Amino acid sequence: MKYLDEYRDSVGAEKLAAAIARTVTRPWTIMEVCGGQTHTIVKYGIDRILPPEVELVHGPGCPVCVTSLEMIDRAHAIASRPDVIFCSFGDMLRVPGSRGDLLQLKSQGADVRIVYSPLDAVSLAAANPSRQVVFFAIGFETTAPPNAMAVWLARKRRLTNFSVLVSHVLVPPAMTAILQSPGNRVRAFLGPGHVCTVVGCGEYEPIAERFKVPIVVTGFEPLDLLEGVLRVVRQLEEGRAEVENQYARAVRPAGNPASKALIDDVFAVCDRKWRGIGLIPLSGYKLRPEYHDHDAEARFAVSNIETQESAICISGEILKGLKKPHDCPAFGLTCTPQNPLGATMVSSEGACAAYYAYGRHLEKTNSRDAMVPVEDLLPLGAGKEVVR
Ligand code: SF4
Repeated sequence: MKYLDEYRDSVGAEKLAAAIARTVTRPWTIMEVCGGQTHTIVKYGIDRILPPEVELVHGPGCPVCVTSLEMIDRAHAIASRPDVIFCSFGDMLRVPGSRGDLLQLKSQGADVRIVYSPLDAVSLAAANPSRQVVFFAIGFETTAPPNAMAVWLARKRRLTNFSVLVSHVLVPPAMTAILQSPGNRVRAFLGPGHVCTVVGCGEYEPIAERFKVPIVVTGFEPLDLLEGVLRVVRQLEEGRAEVENQYARAVRPAGNPASKALIDDVFAVCDRKWRGIGLIPLSGYKLRPEYHDHDAEARFAVSNIETQESAICISGEILKGLKKPHDCPAFGLTCTPQNPLGATMVSSEGACAAYYAYGRHLEKTNSRDAMVPVEDLLPLGAGKEVVR
């Protein structure tokens, strides 16, 4: 398939892997920020065709994973109300809160609906004026523009029965928090390609400069990731710390100005609690005061719900690149995608879920013992999805 096959070509992958091996002279730890990148890396075994000096650790860029347990419980409390139609993207419905997930709530009679766009929820509000319609607005900068558009449109159409439960998170403050965390090992980042299609690359330059870390904005296919690693390794070996754009076919340096203007109109930056990590200052969006009437947290008075995470889960350390799923004693045993105990198992893009999906829970360790030849990994078929 055009635009996919050329980025999954095994010959190209071998050349890039060989170039990385020729370039690297000492150990480097590189974090891929996005959950989609983690998924591709594990699926195609990219971490296992890299030279031993290059270690990939998995970052916090899975929006479903990092939505806080409190926010899931607030969604649950709102969706339980008989006057509410609660709308969400499908991947949030199976995320467990303290009292089960939204799908279970739906099976018990709550009016929980999957939508494919926040604008579908706005249409539902227009068609159901006697009901309260609430949309669960989660995600990174990538999903902020359509969510902002839904709120903007609802206000324009005077839909007083439409509100949003906002749990947006922002990538640059999370990268800063990782670099400042005790024991940090991350020396460079594969930056978040999709986020940068919206906001551009400029926000990453102060981070690269302040912490002396190369940041290469990278795509999501195997060759994208290998090229991103090669560019990062070149910078590290040459002592440079710059922002580069590997994903130029989608990302413009300035991002999407119209989307950024809409975000600025509807949202303001706020502190945000991340599941598995905790509170990160100025790492989220909330509605601006002008849009307060569409704030579901205020409308349904659920802000005071507080919750505790599982004590055995180490997903916070995984999300900061300090540990990997195999370091968790619960991985694949008491914690599985069917019974997730923590952030990185709740979504298929989470690191623990990706390791599980491609059979790594059947291996004793994450060591290079499991390395296999590149031809066995690419194209496609490296990470054959394990039937659960
Ligand atoms: S395997 Fe489960 S409990 Fe362990 S770190 Fe991952 S999500 Fe947490």
